[in-house]
Amino acid sequence: MIHTDAVIVGAGPVGLFAVFELGLLGLRAHVIDVLDKPGGQCAEFYPEKPIYDIPGLPACTGQELTDNLMRQIRPFEPVFHFGTSAQRLEELPGSRWRLTTDDGLVFEAPAIVVAAGGGSFTPKKPPIPGIERYEGHGVDYAVRKIEALRGQRVVISGGGDSALDWTIALRDVAARVTLIHRRSDFRAAPDSVRRMMALAEQGEIDFVLGEVSTLQADGAELCGIGVRTEAGMVDLPCDRLLPFFGLTMKMGPVGDFGLALRGGRIVVDTEKFESNRRGVFAIGDINHYPGKLKLILSGFHEAALMAQQAFRYARPEERLLFQYTTTSTRLKEKLETT
Ligand SMILES: Cc1cc2nc3c(=O)[nH]c(=O)nc-3n(C[C@H](O)[C@H](O)[C@H](O)COP(=O)(O)OP(=O)(O)OC[C@H]3O[C@@H](n4cnc5c(N)ncnc54)[C@H](O)[C@@H]3O)c2cc1C
Repeated sequence: MIHTDAVIVGAGPVGLFAVFELGLLGLRAHVIDVLDKPGGQCAEFYPEKPIYDIPGLPACTGQELTDNLMRQIRPFEPVFHFGTSAQRLEELPGSRWRLTTDDGLVFEAPAIVVAAGGGSFTPKKPPIPGIERYEGHGVDYAVRKIEALRGQRVVISGGGDSALDWTIALRDVAARVTLIHRRSDFRAAPDSVRRMMALAEQGEIDFVLGEVSTLQADGAELCGIGVRTEAGMVDLPCDRLLPFFGLTMKMGPVGDFGLALRGGRIVVDTEKFESNRRGVFAIGDINHYPGKLKLILSGFHEAALMAQQAFRYARPEERLLFQYTTTSTRLKEKLETT
């Protein structure tokens, strides 16, 4: 049994920043994530893509943001539990909560912070027979390491931002990039579409109107694909197929925590970001309130207000002091170790 001030479910950017905001008020946190590393969507889906709307950081990649957050929260000594899923939440007498994970870890705390983002997010798969057999052997749904694609014949399938962004980004790395999309209209940003079309006209990439319908193997590894086009079937050499068909957001076990939900997200107020259960908060992509924007900066704000109320539950006898990090000697001493 682990006793702590707050248990944070999810080590995405918002869960990580919650450690900081709780830490500023002197609260200790344990962080649980089903993934084997911190960063949530930033680290899992776009580690090497730049983010431009983090205040004060003109540009940083998903992985850089994660690394910076990890550095920023280090003084507060959070305890991480990776590769384990928050499974069950029970209310205890005395305004406390018990949270149990799928591998049997048990936590007790006055505050539970659900920062589960898209929940157990999984990529949507294209309807290609036998595609599962090639996953990790030529078929990937995310780019983890750009270098792993150097010199490879890469085929990207899809018409959204990920498909277009990666087509443009990989043209200098891959031996050849081919984009396949079944329509000539795209969901991606118009500027990306214009850039992709220009690259195709200059012969720097290939664009094929069609649908990947078969996969060909050389031993266990992918070596080619069959594409259904208006003119008939076309075979293309292919070492790596990257289908970008979006994500399915499954809420997973937090959907069974007994919290009020709307559209698959946890309903919260906008003063404390607390759910309908006292002491259970929801911040980041997982919550719902009027005007919610699924942005990292919104989650950071939510974490700050959540921490104020979590303090009241964790330290009911103490007075909550509002302090700036710039002027508090105690905080400065702590944070200067970062
Ligand atoms: C391609 C792409 C580009 C984006 N670009 C931007 C951008 O430029 N700017 C911006 O502000 N936002 C951007 N976003 C959105 C941004 O990534 C999200 O708003 C942000 O990640 C939400 O953070 P979070 O911590 O709430 O959730 P997440 O990042 O989703 O993290 C949630 C974590 O909770 C874990 N989890 C879920 N359920 C459980 C459970 N039961 N037990 C344990 N762990 C669990 C998950 O494994 C995950 O690690 C982008 C998203 C994508 C996909």
